[in-house]
Amino acid sequence: MTSDKMLPPGSTIGILGGGQLGRMLATAAAELGFRCHIYCPDGESPAFDVAAARTTAAYENQSALAAFAGSVDVVTYEFENVPAATAAFLGDQVDVLPGPRALAVSQDRLSEKELMQSLDIPVAPFARIDDLAGLEAALGQLGRPSILKTRRFGYDGKGQVAIRPGDDPAAAFEAIAGKPAVLEGFVTFAREVSALVVRGRNGETAVYDIAENVHRNHILATSTVPAQLSPTTAGAAREIATRVADALDYVGLLAVEMFVVEDAGVERLLVNEIAPRVHNSGHWTQDGCIVSQFENHIRAIAGWPLGSTERHSNAVMTNLIGAEADEWATLAAEPGARLHLYGKAESRPGRKMGHVNRISPRVG
Ligand code: AMP
Repeated sequence: MTSDKMLPPGSTIGILGGGQLGRMLATAAAELGFRCHIYCPDGESPAFDVAAARTTAAYENQSALAAFAGSVDVVTYEFENVPAATAAFLGDQVDVLPGPRALAVSQDRLSEKELMQSLDIPVAPFARIDDLAGLEAALGQLGRPSILKTRRFGYDGKGQVAIRPGDDPAAAFEAIAGKPAVLEGFVTFAREVSALVVRGRNGETAVYDIAENVHRNHILATSTVPAQLSPTTAGAAREIATRVADALDYVGLLAVEMFVVEDAGVERLLVNEIAPRVHNSGHWTQDGCIVSQFENHIRAIAGWPLGSTERHSNAVMTNLIGAEADEWATLAAEPGARLHLYGKAESRPGRKMGHVNRISPRVG
């Protein structure tokens, strides 16, 4: 049961997961006078460096979870694959926000798409896949190219495989280890965008300006605001995100990733996926808005009034992947650029090491 009380400064916020998102949540929480307790199985977690308390233990370790729950006033998480049993165990002792429905829906691509359909929100054509015969039948309907995606545990392009003309469906099914999946028709999109909405304990919502996202090797490369979108489409994207948050009785920051399709100059939105957490495509809000996505997530789960999502600047966020972060000294000297580094000891190819927000006066 979610209580209506406002957590006072000095309260402790528990965060499951110790990556860069946890680190930036903890920093934002500290600015409002909160303490953070980070729980993560990995002893090398970047969030540990900026937290008041830390637990290194498995998500299945019930004695560690009980001690953690007893030491915090609310629990949140920085990744959507928190085991349901972990969230339920903690939830018996302390509020866990966003709640179990948001977690369950976003952990399963099929549930996600079914939720969108129930809300009349368009998604790419898709079919549920449980076996090879089902995949072959679905390919007959959706055509090629199509994309086969595992229902669970996919991120940054992992757990998905394109099936093009001539490709063997059996090999594709094997590539995802025969796991329960969905097949998605290929969307020829003009651009990708995301809408970030924050919803408070009292149901109040606020939406950030829509970001336009470019992926490279399935990893987010840049987010640009304002997005190239008609005001009508931008309004529709904001409305979709709010509708999803309301339907889930959501508390916290919710990201909704969408494709923009253009047919004869008319824009259409299709929801690709949702994330029940702060999101990489919202990092620009740290330097482009009055209150960032991180602070607003903390405000929401703490029962505080939401902060202003107003954008005061134009922004381009560029992720620093692997060795790109070695350019830190040059980036630190660049006018108009704000550098954010995650304190990760080891730079590996494909690893998010930091980001830079390039800020300019607001236009549009
Ligand atoms: P996802 O893991 O679903 O976020 O997909 C990662 C990226 O793959 C997306 O951001 C798109 O760039 C691309 N992608 C995913 N699904 C489709 C689709 N049905 N059609 C075309 N491109 C897709």
